[in-house]
Amino acid sequence: MKTTDVRVCRAITAVANGQPVVLSNGSEGDGYLVCAADAATPGLLAFMVRHSSGYVRAALPVSECERLNLPPMSHRDTAHCVSVDVRGTGTGISARDRARTIAALASADSVATDFHRPGHVLPVRADGEGVLACQEPAEAAIDLARMAGRGQAAALAEIVSRRRPTQIARGTELVEFAVEHGLPVVSIGELVAYRRRTEPQVVRLAEAILPTWAGDSRVIGFRDVHDGGEHLVAIVGTVDAGVPVPLHVHVECLTGDVFGSKACRCGGELNGALARMSAQGSGVVVYLRPSGPPRACGLLTSNDAPADTMSETVAWILRDLGVYAIKLSEDAPGFGLVMFGGIREQGISTLAAAG
Ligand SMILES: [Zn+2]
Repeated sequence: MKTTDVRVCRAITAVANGQPVVLSNGSEGDGYLVCAADAATPGLLAFMVRHSSGYVRAALPVSECERLNLPPMSHRDTAHCVSVDVRGTGTGISARDRARTIAALASADSVATDFHRPGHVLPVRADGEGVLACQEPAEAAIDLARMAGRGQAAALAEIVSRRRPTQIARGTELVEFAVEHGLPVVSIGELVAYRRRTEPQVVRLAEAILPTWAGDSRVIGFRDVHDGGEHLVAIVGTVDAGVPVPLHVHVECLTGDVFGSKACRCGGELNGALARMSAQGSGVVVYLRPSGPPRACGLLTSNDAPADTMSETVAWILRDLGVYAIKLSEDAPGFGLVMFGGIREQGISTLAAAG
């Protein structure tokens, strides 16, 4: 298992056991104490208040904020909602009172009228899709709670620097803090990578036999579950399990693929790959169509997805197809090798010989 996955798993186990973890926002970013909201106890809240700014937030999916009638506090900041205390607490500010409020916010049995407004706990709206939709601390916190099998709500508070008490702790000081208190550390980036690797990133759509100039191909459409990008796979000839399949990964280029533009190599590479596969009687073309405006060399500048994100998408498509061994079928060694490195990291066996 990758070291980063071990860190994510340790954090999930701690959250499952009702313990806090340190969530870092990049290597030099700030850091948060995070716990599952349904695990909030007076002792845990006292610990969070003591080592943080004391500004404890409760991250909830948007749907829960709406169910509990927690509107945004202002039009400019739509994430932070009106603050609350659960009824029946004292002043609401003590660790004991805030633990009760946070646990009540996490409870499916709570209703809007259970809470006073304003109060001492700040609910914050988080995208229910978590870090794959939005790489922010609130989304990371609810992801940790959900993956830990707790409710989909979490408490979080910025950790204060001990060396410079007027500032927020960053970087190595967060690690020192975690070691001193025996807490796991996990970063938002590690959670993103873990979820991309462990959760299917595409769903299969339509399937058809397409007669092309290179022969009949089986074509299958896929949709990215997060950004909605729709990708196409063309399977040429037969694909035997266990035999490395020639693979060509192509990123859509409207001008090159459709109009045969000579300003780029896209169209020639795609046709070359189809011709080789047709001659060999076997091969898979993964045609990636990232979400947003179409990519078109020489016409539109595009923001290409990072190679590691694209290789994860390709790996999930190959798993869906039952293809676990591939070989390079490219005359674009630069892009092809980067892509193959990424796909190999996903656990799919690659043979780097041109096929
Ligand atoms: Zn192009």
